[in-house]
Amino acid sequence: MPATKFICPDGRQVDIKKCLQKCINAQRCMFLPTLRAIAQSLDRGIKDPTVTELLCGVRETYLKKTTEYAIRPHDQLYAIHGSAVHTINEGYTEGNILSEERIYDDITSGKFDLYGQIIDLNDKTLGDYKVTSSYKLMRALGYYKVDIETEEIYKSGLRKGQRKTRKEWRTDGVRYLFDWAVQLNYYRMLLENKGFKVERMEVQAMCRDYSLRIAAERNIRKPVYVIHINNISDRWIKLYMNTKAERLNLSLKRGLMPEICTSRERWKNRKCAEYCAVADNCTFGRLVKNQIKAAA
Ligand code: SF4
Ligand code: SF4
Repeated sequence: MPATKFICPDGRQVDIKKCLQKCINAQRCMFLPTLRAIAQSLDRGIKDPTVTELLCGVRETYLKKTTEYAIRPHDQLYAIHGSAVHTINEGYTEGNILSEERIYDDITSGKFDLYGQIIDLNDKTLGDYKVTSSYKLMRALGYYKVDIETEEIYKSGLRKGQRKTRKEWRTDGVRYLFDWAVQLNYYRMLLENKGFKVERMEVQAMCRDYSLRIAAERNIRKPVYVIHINNISDRWIKLYMNTKAERLNLSLKRGLMPEICTSRERWKNRKCAEYCAVADNCTFGRLVKNQIKAAA
């Protein structure tokens, strides 16, 4: 079941259909076509779980499929920005490039963004567009800071006599891009099952807060990065996605609530607290929100 309500900027909830007919507030928070595009992006009309749905926690996807929930149109803007980027590129996929085809297998289905000559004129690259935050980019690129000692010495205080330090960026850290890697590797498998050899995988990630100071503080200096994705074995990818698909399908069949999402899937509770659209329909989500309220 897709989202049925919008959350207005003042926190009130309104049926999406009602909002599209008439705003319940004095002024619309967005143009009607933008709201219509958001409403349409919420319902892709695909019954079985897709690769992107399986990448989320099983409980989150289960609740999105079985309960009514509300979303903030503003939060959905980045998703439709992503679609806009696809549309801009779509007009320029001349040559040997396939784009936006949905491929099915016996576990799930996935729609890759681009395949073919997207880096140079001889390659078979699988590419994916992302519109993301500087925080996620910093982690995906493996950037981190280290303390470097300087010649200056503290002359007083607790650290008197010790060398002063300054922060320096390093770019060889762990790259936190598990979801992107699993998603692209699954698309690679789907394409290869259809006879299309994938020689490399790349993500073109656009930074949505690039112009803000916070992006520079995270060493994000460009509006767009091309990030290489390594191969993961087909055996592992299939096992991982099949396990999640089976758990989800079993819960849907029996009408049983799945276990809470894993700590990684719920971003160590940050998602439950602020970003999960079905948190109000989830016992754990409500618990996290109540704990935050009580501590405030
Ligand atoms: S246009 Fe915005 S403010 Fe008006 S009803 Fe819809 S969501 Fe609420
Ligand atoms: S609130 Fe947290 S545990 Fe519940 S569905 Fe959302 S992400 Fe998963």
